[in-house]
Amino acid sequence: MIALSLAEIAEVVGGQTHDIPDPTVQVTGPVVRDSREAGPGSLFVAFAGERVDGHDFAAAVVEAGAVAVLGTRPVGVPAIVVDDVQAALGALARHVVRRLGATLVALTGSAGKTSTKDLIAQVLQRKAPTVFTPGSLNNEIGLPLTALSATEETRFLVLEMGARGIGHISYLTGLTPPKVGLVLNVGSAHIGEFGGREQIAQAKGELVESLPEDGTAVLNTDDPYVRAMASRTKAKVIFFGESDEADVRAENVRLTDTGQPAFRLHTPSGASDVTMRLYGEHHVSNALAAAAVAHELGMSADEIAVALSEAGSLSRWRMEVTERPDGVTVVNDAYNANPESMKAALRALAAIGKGRRTWAVLGKMAELGDEALAEHDAVGRLAVRLNVSKLVAVGGREAAWLQLGAYNEGSWGEESVHVSDAQAAVDLLRSELRPGDVVLVKASRSVGLESVAQALLESG
Ligand code: ATP
Ligand code: MG
Repeated sequence: MIALSLAEIAEVVGGQTHDIPDPTVQVTGPVVRDSREAGPGSLFVAFAGERVDGHDFAAAVVEAGAVAVLGTRPVGVPAIVVDDVQAALGALARHVVRRLGATLVALTGSAGKTSTKDLIAQVLQRKAPTVFTPGSLNNEIGLPLTALSATEETRFLVLEMGARGIGHISYLTGLTPPKVGLVLNVGSAHIGEFGGREQIAQAKGELVESLPEDGTAVLNTDDPYVRAMASRTKAKVIFFGESDEADVRAENVRLTDTGQPAFRLHTPSGASDVTMRLYGEHHVSNALAAAAVAHELGMSADEIAVALSEAGSLSRWRMEVTERPDGVTVVNDAYNANPESMKAALRALAAIGKGRRTWAVLGKMAELGDEALAEHDAVGRLAVRLNVSKLVAVGGREAAWLQLGAYNEGSWGEESVHVSDAQAAVDLLRSELRPGDVVLVKASRSVGLESVAQALLESG
């Protein structure tokens, strides 16, 4: 963080200082909410959770070197006391971001935010110091904490923004107003909670509404809901996508023999070839989004293409391909699932496992509302069409729908197995896997199928 005195922080957040002998002492960062991360120069933000109250760690964090605690009551060590810690954290982030010399890039979408954020960060990092959201910390607490981790040297600040309802994104853009705003897609994630796609589009579009006139909205032409957001912004608009009208687009998209996407990248400043290290053709769209942002921030097509070709995944359980010593390959994409990424992952499995025995270990895709049955059926059918050797459907009725799709498409009987939980899937696979087999593991977050991938890797 840029150094700020306790007096200045107290003023910015409208707080009272307690037990602070010298208010000119500076916080040099980091700002942390986890007491274990507190160290010399840090500010500890005490949230009172249901199980744990951060205030209980006040003495420990000061012992570890923290300069003060930001909380809702005096704690016997240097503290800035406010009514609402979340609001104070937001106010501090807003204040600090104004003083940074960095360009703010924000992105949202239903699927692929973290993957794309990681790509953008890896591309921009080649040009100048870049700070970005760690993992998926994209809410009203993670976002300000990330912004506060930027320093004077930071040139690009890349922020993932999540929305679970109307007004969430505007709250976040109010804290850290972006210059470049990217919307990836309006899919079916959280559709149950929102009420429908229109509402999701309404919520995500708040990002481009927040952009200034000299800002840039980066929009996906392939998604009609996102394309339509062009009319909701004062900023300049650039489009990425497959269509010929897109400013940044991919030509000759294909999967290599190893199952990785390759394409020719076109930007307004030229064209260059990309072969990705990441798996899954859905990353083509994510790569184009990252390329559009990087183009906008002054990078050439060649520079972008090299960076995209070398970029790896920075976040866990997203198409992690690992080969066991016995030659079984495990593809761990258990972080999350939606219809688009399920299909992309199955196609990647078919490409990686060409000529080998392939297993799709799949669980439910959550929050699909009325579309749930049809979407699971469609995934089961695709497994048949792609000649996956064996489908292992894990869990309750959604798993039955996956199996039903496979039955309807190809009269699959023995080729598909329905097991009740992750442990049953592990037991089955342990006894059936043979050297050379390729296993994809994927379901929504709540299913927790990463335990299957981990067990397979441990037993290899
Ligand atoms: P969250 O809302 O949990 O933060 P996210 O939007 O950050 O999710 P990622 O973590 O990048 O998304 O990816 C989540 C899942 O979505 C992954 O399993 C991946 O396979 C899939 N995915 C990634 N990019 C896309 C895309 N462009 N379209 C559809 N699915 C995608
Ligand atoms: Mg995420």
